[in-house]
Amino acid sequence: MTDFPVFDGHNDLILRLLRGDVTADAVAAGLPDGHIDKPRAKAGGFGGGMFAIFVPSPDDKAVRHDEMRNPPYDIALPTQVSEAEATDWTERGFDAMDNLEAAGAIRICRTASDVEAALPADEMAAVTHIEGAEAVDREFAKLNQWYDRGLRSLGPVWSRDTVWGHGVPFRYPSDPDTGPGLTDAGKALIRECNRLKILVDLSHLNGKGFEDVARITDAPLVATHSNAWAVCPHSRNLTDRQLAVIRDSDGMVGINFASAFLRPDGRMESEFELDIMLRHFDHLVSSLGEDRVGLGSDFDGALVPDHIEDCAGLPNLLTALRSHGVDDGLMTKITHGNWLRVLRKTWGQ
Ligand code: ZN
Repeated sequence: MTDFPVFDGHNDLILRLLRGDVTADAVAAGLPDGHIDKPRAKAGGFGGGMFAIFVPSPDDKAVRHDEMRNPPYDIALPTQVSEAEATDWTERGFDAMDNLEAAGAIRICRTASDVEAALPADEMAAVTHIEGAEAVDREFAKLNQWYDRGLRSLGPVWSRDTVWGHGVPFRYPSDPDTGPGLTDAGKALIRECNRLKILVDLSHLNGKGFEDVARITDAPLVATHSNAWAVCPHSRNLTDRQLAVIRDSDGMVGINFASAFLRPDGRMESEFELDIMLRHFDHLVSSLGEDRVGLGSDFDGALVPDHIEDCAGLPNLLTALRSHGVDDGLMTKITHGNWLRVLRKTWGQ
């Protein structure tokens, strides 16, 4: 499957480095656990993707995952994170990206051509993404500095409120219309991202926030790691109406591997057949068209299906797609072609 290197819309490997769980050298050499390291990326055809810098909430993810094992659930939004704390964490995130590059694990990409060149390379192609913009100041000074350090994608909120807007809670069953959208500051942030040509990620926005971005932005609409609400009615997934808006903007959606956003029953359990992913795939392709669907694994941030397990298991998904009738042309688009097209368009290259 090496003809089809995967460019992936979202992973949380950087969080493991920031928590001190793993070192950059160990990512290059191979890790005993987690979803991503260089040897497994090579084995699985994981060519790279968007690497998220994410400031964790003090709440315990294990507790959240426990609750999500028993639908229905409605997880309260965690408390806000301060700009000072987020800035410190985010600066360290950029350092972690540099360390991974110095260790030979990744190649930091600033243009779509960088991504295209790095996909078949030994190192993973890495686009720097900030998930939740708590660290960004209202004058956008840091945003501009971080652009210079390689920042090319940003989500105004994670599932948490910020000065920019309101995140969507993890709620099942629920549609994404869970509260107010962007603040005036948030709307200004979208305009500044447009000016800098930073991709604005819609994943984790609620319904109103999504509409606000759609109204303001001049770029294709992108949800880097989200699924079809029609298949799994989770607040994190995209309704048919939202998919139509994304299609009309010529944007795209990366399929999230998180079990609770895939399974029609919303359960955070990883034992299920990949047919469920194919149902999301079919729905997204029929809603968006073949040019607007890619992958957005959420590796190292989510409980992924046992049949994939980690990035070395990507060939299992590609095999399932192949048996589902996906030909070479469509496989090229899903694995990386569509991402390259949308990144090129968003970044003005
Ligand atoms: Zn996320």
